[in-house]
Amino acid sequence: FAELWQEDPEVARILLDEVERLRGGLQLIASENFTSPAVMAALGSTLTNKYAEGYPGRRYYGGCEVVDRAERLAVDRAKDLFGADHANVQPHSGASANLAAYAALLRPGDTMLAMALSHGGHLTHGSKVNFSGRWFDVVAYGVRRDTETIDYDEVRDLALRHRPKLIVCGATAYPRLIDFAVFRGVADEVGAWLLADVAHTIGLVAGGVVPSPVPHADVVTFTTHKALRGPRGGAILCTEELASRVDRAVFPFTQGGPLMHAIAAKAVAFGEAARPEFRAYAGRVVANARALAGALEEEGMRPVSGGTDTHLALVDLRPLGVTGADAERACARAKITLNRNAIPYDPLPPAVTSGVRLGTPCVTTQGMGVTEMKEIASMVAHAVGDPGAITSVAERVTRLTRSHPAYPRG
Ligand code: PLP
Repeated sequence: FAELWQEDPEVARILLDEVERLRGGLQLIASENFTSPAVMAALGSTLTNKYAEGYPGRRYYGGCEVVDRAERLAVDRAKDLFGADHANVQPHSGASANLAAYAALLRPGDTMLAMALSHGGHLTHGSKVNFSGRWFDVVAYGVRRDTETIDYDEVRDLALRHRPKLIVCGATAYPRLIDFAVFRGVADEVGAWLLADVAHTIGLVAGGVVPSPVPHADVVTFTTHKALRGPRGGAILCTEELASRVDRAVFPFTQGGPLMHAIAAKAVAFGEAARPEFRAYAGRVVANARALAGALEEEGMRPVSGGTDTHLALVDLRPLGVTGADAERACARAKITLNRNAIPYDPLPPAVTSGVRLGTPCVTTQGMGVTEMKEIASMVAHAVGDPGAITSVAERVTRLTRSHPAYPRG
């Protein structure tokens, strides 16, 4: 960092300001985490220099013998950690992983069945503004109005009616467990491939605190930077049968040279996630999310589906008469970072929404527990419900983050 400061103080200042922002506030974005210094060391390494199109032992560039070791290690660790036949660690992001997975299984115009964005699915699950919605014929399923959990009867009915070539399960804003075995059954009934996009929960799968999709899905896509606590990036697991289709779909079909520094960092993260400490961490992430959802409910916010089994809570703010956008802004002023989020059957448009999504991966990495979750719920409620309380909430945030710092100094 001293060299960056010397060479380019303008960029160095930005990096320092971001660390101060992380340290000075509460980070409750469900898809974020704080990577370890070891992951960051791999990311900031000379492996960023290397062109390595192809796969270990089969590259289109010379001089890959060292980076090959990094990729082999990342692949082996991913396979061991998740019990998968095959792993591809090259996707640059979760969206790239999904693009490649679809390319491996579908042709433009094919039908796929996936969760609606408005009910918690991801953009890449068929939104009209995304390649997935433009290139495929997408049929969307959602959650039931009464339980706000996936309507498996609707999934089966839609599958029988539309005969999709691919069924996608997995979500971005869904607090409950997904029954992969039921999805497998439906996929088998209609002869579809099953893809589980577990970008959000793969860290909890690694920690053994939620069920794994690997025994059920033909292909599993995920990001490495959420609860899993690795570098920003994506990865794909699949059966032996699909291994070469998936590999060809990543390179050369959708990507060129892999990011070897990110792949080395993924290897570090998979190594960290295999340790007992990570299991304990994943357990605390879920316990904290449960405590947070419960405490928010006591403060007058309604957890969608009545609670959570994962790392996130989606709360309905209508009982407080506040929109998601207003709540996001009020919390930001109080140094609490979270995002507005549509709730199922939301009467408000996506830019406004009736809800917010809160996640516990970051605050758990900071060492916070159930007691702090109650304090956080109280702070969120005060920030959202009382504009006059913003300054005092910001002071409470400062006290809490000082006692549980992100990236402790030194
Ligand atoms: N899939 C799901 C379920 C996600 O939640 C996300 C990101 O939030 C992605 C895919 C896309 O990941 P990325 O932002 O790395 O492209």
